[in-house]
This record gives sequence, C-alpha cells and structure tokens, in this order.
Amino acid sequence: MAIFLLGLSRCPICEEVHETSEGVELLPAVAWGESDPLWELSDAAVHASCLAPDPRQPLLARVLEAFERNRLLAPPRCLACGGEIDDPRDYIGLPWLTHDEADPLAAYSFRLIHASHVRTWKDYDAFMELLRRRVDEEPAFGWVVKTMERARGAGR
Ligand SMILES: [Zn+2]
Ligand SMILES: [Zn+2]
Repeated sequence: MAIFLLGLSRCPICEEVHETSEGVELLPAVAWGESDPLWELSDAAVHASCLAPDPRQPLLARVLEAFERNRLLAPPRCLACGGEIDDPRDYIGLPWLTHDEADPLAAYSFRLIHASHVRTWKDYDAFMELLRRRVDEEPAFGWVVKTMERARGAGR
C-alpha cells in the first residue's frame, strides 16, 4: 500500500499536499510502467473526491475489486494446492498482470502461491509462457519471472 505522509504526500490528481487523512484513499501498486493508464495512481494516496469523477476510476475499481477478492476478504488460497496461505514466509504474491480481461493472464492477477509449491504446480509451464510474453511488452515484470524461476528451482 502507498506510504502516506501528512504534509508531504500529494494527491496525484489535484496535486495538493495532504494535510489530513480524511477522505484519502491509499492505493496498492496497480501499474508497472509509465505507459500504463493507472501509472499515476499506483501506490498513491488520492482524495476519494478527486477519484470519483476521474476517467480512470472504472478501470481502477476493477483492479481494486480483484485485489480485495484475492488478498483481503477470505484467506488467500494457493494457486497450486488450493490450501490457505497462512505462513507469511512461504508465498509469492503475483502483482496485477494485465488490464485486458480477455488476456488469460488476467486470472492470475493478485493471486498467491506457496513458494514451496511452485516446484510442483501443474500450470507452471503454461503460466510462465504467458508471463514471458508479457515481459516482452513490459520489462518491469521481469522480477516475477525471476522470482518464480527461483522458487521452481529451490526445491530440487
Ligand atoms: Zn485530490
Ligand atoms: Zn500450496
């Protein structure tokens, strides 16, 4: 989530410095490069009143809905075994991967997987193929590939 400092953080929409936390929404990381329409809002502290009429709001709402559903509501479930993720040292959290709902990667946005289960995950190869294609468009995703590869090799 965004780091929020009174008297320092600015709302990226109206550019005013926050002097109070009232009416301020803290947003998680939702974009990976300047070409992303949500780049300015990613990891930011915004006024709810600035966000409501903003043209990016519907897209952001979709991202946040997925974030809540996969991370905050029920205990997150592992992509590989379906079990609950309850050990904070044993999971990999996938970031938001695409704004394109038709993209097969969309199903993996914000999902979690036990780090120790990456090795045996049956969908690993299919997922990594999609992910590597995504990295060609957005090199910032390279860390996801590296993290998954490291986890895959770790248990061997
Ligand atoms: Zn504002
Ligand atoms: Zn698992």
